[in-house]
Amino acid sequence: MKKRILLPDEERVTQWYNVMADMPGGMHPPLNPATKQPLTPDLMAPIFPMGLLEQEMSDKRWIDIPEEIQDIWSIWRPSPLVRANFLEEKLGTKAKIYFKYEGVSPSGSHKTNSAVVQAYYNKREGVKRLATETGAGQWGSALAFATHKFGLECKVYMVRVSYDQKPYRKSMMHTYGAEIVPSPSPDTPTGRAILAKDPNTPGSLGIAISEALEDAVSREDTKYALGSVLNHVCLHQTIIGLEAKKQLAMIGESPDVVIGCCGGGSNFAGLAAPFLPDKLEGKDIRLIGVEPASCPSLTKGIYAYDFGDVSERTPLLYMYTLGHDFMPPGIHAGGLRYHGMSPIVSAMLRENLMEAMALHQVECFEAGVLFAQTEGIIPAPESCHAIRAAIIEATKDPKEPKTILFNLSGHGHLDLSSYDKFFAGELHNFEYPAEAVAEAKKHLPKI
Ligand SMILES: *Cc1c(COP(=O)(O)O)cnc(C)c1O
Repeated sequence: MKKRILLPDEERVTQWYNVMADMPGGMHPPLNPATKQPLTPDLMAPIFPMGLLEQEMSDKRWIDIPEEIQDIWSIWRPSPLVRANFLEEKLGTKAKIYFKYEGVSPSGSHKTNSAVVQAYYNKREGVKRLATETGAGQWGSALAFATHKFGLECKVYMVRVSYDQKPYRKSMMHTYGAEIVPSPSPDTPTGRAILAKDPNTPGSLGIAISEALEDAVSREDTKYALGSVLNHVCLHQTIIGLEAKKQLAMIGESPDVVIGCCGGGSNFAGLAAPFLPDKLEGKDIRLIGVEPASCPSLTKGIYAYDFGDVSERTPLLYMYTLGHDFMPPGIHAGGLRYHGMSPIVSAMLRENLMEAMALHQVECFEAGVLFAQTEGIIPAPESCHAIRAAIIEATKDPKEPKTILFNLSGHGHLDLSSYDKFFAGELHNFEYPAEAVAEAKKHLPKI
């Protein structure tokens, strides 16, 4: 048995798969929040480069991956597909478990895939500088690396509480050459207004998004970048599933169950979407998205148009949402604390092409520790959700042979303080109350 399966050069993936081309029932267009009419690309042009806006609205099934991107990706791509046979043994299951390991990227997660693509299209259109926000720091460090590769400047607004608690993510961004400030910052009107009212505020992702957007629209040379949720980000991440499919085919395998954790939805969509055509052709394959029970947009959210941020600045997206005024609970998978789910993943759920599962953080950390002790890799807290779900599927009926594929979206080397808290018994479960969703429903934009 081969433990790590790589891809030979001649099997290199050279096109992305755009699942929107095959989505039954189609996609709802994003809306201009002022007019409630479908958004036109020119309205978004101050924020995103045309190359990415075209992808955002494309109905082409296959889209070429530019050579320059493939060159930089070759630092870590193709990422390994690994058979988790030590975990299988420990579980005593007949199921075969494979994982696609995205923690080999420079910043340690799948986010680097899209960061490089976004930097490339901005550079190509003459942009000199990108502004972005980061919560826990994974996206900021991915974009810091990618912008530097293309000679762009990068400014990261990092949610203050993470800025103070995650000093090593900050050090990574500095090392890659980015400028980073805690958000709210004195550098934007929104930041200044919030600091004047509450100088000790911990900040929030919503505030940081507002600051990065203000920065981008206030300068000719600057655009904005987002690390998840949007269609073009999910498109870029399909490299994960396309490679995995080829790697499995090389050893004569194909998955019965495909699993990914869901924050904004990009790593799950990236792994699972390339298997959708097989499913639509009638192949018996289950796609499972896993979210925290404390932030259950897929399992408890409302399917409706909503804003992407707290301050109601973004276009309206049709998605499963907990309401844009959702206050994230302090769970230790920072990357999964978003109120909405990508429109692509939302449409997959609406069409019953995937299943959604909500899990509690303690059981996910338990799974992460078991994984670290058997397979050696310490997983990111986000990825622990996918591992837990894979274990549930593998042990439901341990005599049933099946092939499980999950996405190990990142490593947890910069999240070890969360593991410390888990071992100290300081992590608690929190079920998001249905009443809060009912309340949020009242604040959704009226269409
Ligand atoms: C950001 C992040 C996630 C969640 O984001 P998605 O867009 O849902 O993929 C998951 N895992 C890791 C390691 C992350 O950094």
